[in-house]
Amino acid sequence: MRILSNHRPRNIQRAVFVALFVVLSALPLFAQRRERTVESWKPLHYDVNLSFNEQLTEISSARTEISVEVLKPNVTKIDLDFGELAIDSIQIAGAPAQFDRTNEQLNVALPRAANRGDKLSIAINYHGKPKDGLIFARDRDGKQSATGDNWPNRVHYWIPTLDHPSAKATVSFTISAPQRYQVVANGKSGATTQNALMSQWKFDEGKAIPPYCMIVTVNEGAVINSPDQTITNLIYNVPQKDRDYAVKGFSSAAPALAFFNQTIAPYPYEKLALIVAETRFGGMENSSAIVFASNLLALHGGEKMSARFGIPTRIENVVAHEIAHQWFGDSVTETTWADLWLSEGFATYFAGLFLEKYEGDAAFRDYMRDAAEQVVRYSKSNKMPIHDTTTQDLMSLLNDNNYQKGAWVLHMLRKQLGDEAFFKGVRNYYNDHREANATTEDLRSALEKSSGKNLKDFFARWIYGAGHPRYELSWGSMERASTTSLFVHLNQLQDGDPFLDPVPIEFTVNGKPERRTIYPKGKLTTETIQLPGNPTGVKIDPDETLLKEVVSIKP
Ligand SMILES: [Zn+2]
Repeated sequence: MRILSNHRPRNIQRAVFVALFVVLSALPLFAQRRERTVESWKPLHYDVNLSFNEQLTEISSARTEISVEVLKPNVTKIDLDFGELAIDSIQIAGAPAQFDRTNEQLNVALPRAANRGDKLSIAINYHGKPKDGLIFARDRDGKQSATGDNWPNRVHYWIPTLDHPSAKATVSFTISAPQRYQVVANGKSGATTQNALMSQWKFDEGKAIPPYCMIVTVNEGAVINSPDQTITNLIYNVPQKDRDYAVKGFSSAAPALAFFNQTIAPYPYEKLALIVAETRFGGMENSSAIVFASNLLALHGGEKMSARFGIPTRIENVVAHEIAHQWFGDSVTETTWADLWLSEGFATYFAGLFLEKYEGDAAFRDYMRDAAEQVVRYSKSNKMPIHDTTTQDLMSLLNDNNYQKGAWVLHMLRKQLGDEAFFKGVRNYYNDHREANATTEDLRSALEKSSGKNLKDFFARWIYGAGHPRYELSWGSMERASTTSLFVHLNQLQDGDPFLDPVPIEFTVNGKPERRTIYPKGKLTTETIQLPGNPTGVKIDPDETLLKEVVSIKP
């Protein structure tokens, strides 16, 4: 997803982080985060039936039927995540089941112990107004609406689930709502039926998706077909206020779909709805039903505009980012929260690649330079690696490490492996893990295979280690008749281990560029470089292929 810049508690978050860091630094080890991973059973399919009341203020009745597979011998209960909604009854294979509830957990007792490979169906009947996850709010037209907004683990406030990204499953929805409403959910839409008061909508998502991506939106907005249906059935669901601008405002969406379709793999889902509704994020990548913040299409003067599409670059960026997530995050989902960069770093980088293709190299360079500046600023108060196994608050993982630094790691891999090996590796990684989960090590393995290179040290330093190189370059020279010998010292000032990435240097000699590369062996590297004369200018990394800080360059 993308964070709303004005909603981001940057300073508070940082202050807390600094305080936390000081406290935790005194301890011998950071406490490992415990994740709600799949253990004794896994969900296969959720069949979710929701009926809304006339005022659209609550769920008047709900029935979620969960197909599960047992993974261990002698399992006596299914422990679901479920919030505080009132439960009316629970059945297993049609017979009433016993259950107890503690601290957002719903333990359903099995009539007899189940064994590995057993399949069960559990139906939970419930009702009420969820305290989170499904947001009831006025939309931009002032009309009542309801929209799912689950990241990271808030879907269990309205659907009983195993609420962790590794527990992927297919989902179908049957939604009953008063006739004035439009309903959009994940997956292919089925038949809509009506009686005198209510309409019933059906949707079926046949690909396994992470629970945080399961959503429904119920609103009185407009539903518009995109004029470009080349890649998939592309529709827009927007407030009536945005009806006239929607086709123009979303004009970069079909090109983004086509670009990722070609660069990565065929689009993974049955349709794509771009929804403007309630979300706490700037955009949320729910599989085949992306939700953007309610003010996405509200134009304000003085915005930076896309030369290609004539829309604010703010819209172009977030649309490309959320569409890229359909492949990375939704289809290939992070196995643990420590692997979140596989979702956010990829979406950030592939949105950049879309700019490179449609807006040109200069726009791409600006985008990556901004990202680098954010990482450098962020690193002053945060010393965690990208692969963060200790931060307890999942919301604070929506940080510059997982987004911008993750994007930069991908950019450096592309530049060091070359386009051919990089994109081949990414495509293989995608195809090996689509509709499933992946770890950081899965990505490393795919890129090692496609490039023939050992990337252990690169990943150890950039993903599992913290920080970035802070270079200090100095030199002394000895001039002879035709050549100058330069004794170059490249010092790395950051904490921790050296970065061993090759460092391109451009010297200006007699008005001409002379490129050389330094291969660091440790924190301090000294090399002798022959040049045709004394340099009048020196630049580190002239093509911007490294995430870095240049602290000083002087003889
Ligand atoms: Zn994102």
